[in-house]
Amino acid sequence: MNIVVIGGGAGGASFAARMRRLDNSAKIDILEETNETSIASCGLPYFVGDVISNRENIQVATPQLFKQAFDIDIHLMTKAEKIDAKAKTVTTTDGQVFPYDKLILSTGGAPFVPPIKGLEKKPSFTLKTLKNADTIKAFLKETTPKSLLVVGGGFIGVEVAENLVHQGIQTTLVDIAPQVLPPLDADMVCQIHEHMTEKGVKLILGDGIKEITEKGALLSSGKELSADGIVLALGIRPQTQIAKDAGIELTPKGAIKTNEFMQTNFKDIYACGDSVAVKDFVNQEENMVALAGPANREGRLIADHILGKAPYPYTGTQGTGIVKVFDMTAAFTGNNEKQLQAKNIPYEKMIVWKASHAGYYPDAKPLVLKVLYGKDGTIFGAQAVGYDGVDKRIDVIATVMRLHGKTTDLRDAELCYAPPYSSAKDPVNIIGMAIENIRQGLMRPYFGTSFEGMFVVDVRSNEAFEKGHLPEAVNIPLENIKESLDKFPKDKPILIHCQTGYRSYVAVRILMENGFENVYSYAGGYKQYSTEIKGALK
Ligand SMILES: Cc1cc2nc3c(=O)[nH]c(=O)nc-3n(C[C@H](O)[C@H](O)[C@H](O)COP(=O)(O)OP(=O)(O)OC[C@H]3O[C@@H](n4cnc5c(N)ncnc54)[C@H](O)[C@@H]3O)c2cc1C
Repeated sequence: MNIVVIGGGAGGASFAARMRRLDNSAKIDILEETNETSIASCGLPYFVGDVISNRENIQVATPQLFKQAFDIDIHLMTKAEKIDAKAKTVTTTDGQVFPYDKLILSTGGAPFVPPIKGLEKKPSFTLKTLKNADTIKAFLKETTPKSLLVVGGGFIGVEVAENLVHQGIQTTLVDIAPQVLPPLDADMVCQIHEHMTEKGVKLILGDGIKEITEKGALLSSGKELSADGIVLALGIRPQTQIAKDAGIELTPKGAIKTNEFMQTNFKDIYACGDSVAVKDFVNQEENMVALAGPANREGRLIADHILGKAPYPYTGTQGTGIVKVFDMTAAFTGNNEKQLQAKNIPYEKMIVWKASHAGYYPDAKPLVLKVLYGKDGTIFGAQAVGYDGVDKRIDVIATVMRLHGKTTDLRDAELCYAPPYSSAKDPVNIIGMAIENIRQGLMRPYFGTSFEGMFVVDVRSNEAFEKGHLPEAVNIPLENIKESLDKFPKDKPILIHCQTGYRSYVAVRILMENGFENVYSYAGGYKQYSTEIKGALK
């Protein structure tokens, strides 16, 4: 069997290696237009920042290794130009013709570069390939720029900004959206804004680049910035022209359509990775998600389907991701509030602040966890931000979601515990318990930063109250609640807050047991409120 793969990145290489492990006889050719294959794209920002200093470490596998270990031929600097789906051939720009029995498209995405007036006035870069990273590194070394502008606050823009700051470069990140890291909701990303600003990134959000100037950039707001160069990190667009020309069906956004076995409308042409449309695991609708994990899993699945030994379908992409932001980590899985609202999916939410491990063991760090769920306990998504243990909380919830677990499963999950690692009730258990309390009507959470018409009470100590509290709050410490019931009005909503949301929940229970019905606990407490206020950039 002749197998041709277009694209030697994550999906293509993963497919080819699996194919060879399952079948020794197939002839496998990978066509790759650049002079790199199997590079660790995800490590590129850290290579730019010299955190990964050895260039060879970025090259996960070489063509020689593929040949020796797998008997796979990788043709570098070989661009596939035309697919003839009838004759079953691929023609390259240098005139080679590769006949195929099965063709796999893993052409990935290309960095999106919009037309920006004056872009030629400053050195500008994108970061997709090792060559791009080499170019940026050479620029940094040769010109030692004082200041750089990063345009786009997705995970690549944020990682690049961090790595530039590490090298002493004044770094400004501009994004037209009011926040960085779009998978996070505004109430979760606020901490990241604050942290990036503290670490020296000048964040300008809700503003776009109007023009690149001799000095740097002119923004839509009229603001002028100085910059010696620009890194454009504005996302990617699927590279699917070759597929389109061959009559392969695309979505309106230009991604390749496939069935659950990653077959296109031509049954012998498969596609995987960043260039395909996937089914969103949560809302079941078509989506485009550029992540290495899905690309690898899709590639692997294609090999199993071709050989028909134990074919299994692709069950959708959840969009589970993680990003390091200086000393912090943000991770997410499933749908966020914006996505659920766009799909008209009714949802509830809960936020808890906990320590990364037992508070009495040294170095426990704050961690905030948010879960979005349906009335029946279906988990739609989760987000976490903190310094330690963020990944495992989101990985646990992502797994529960993948197994179609419910919020009760978060409450009941038996997770490993010893003081240096967690608490007897892990943050995942705590949020599950809190959600079940809400579902049972034991407590109502309150979110946001507007408290008009509410009677706001801080149930922390007087000392904590003096240091800061929700606007207009009165201070009635938890231990005094029972003897102060006459101070609580019955004709307006009562909002209770504490530091992180536990004592306010206890206070809410006391009030409800005493006949108060219109009572809310501020989710995440004063910690959440003050973080939202500080991280909401002007
Ligand atoms: C800087 C950076 C950081 C990232 N960090 C993360 C991360 O932390 N976590 C994560 O999950 N994901 C991350 N990603 C995304 C991840 O790398 C991609 O999702 C993944 O590589 C997609 O695999 P793919 O096979 O679809 O495409 P790619 O790996 O992009 O491979 C596509 C290949 O096809 C080749 N090609 C295209 N057209 C042709 C043609 N006509 N002929 C021949 N060759 C062609 C291209 O040259 C390319 O090598 C990052 C990406 C970048 C750029």
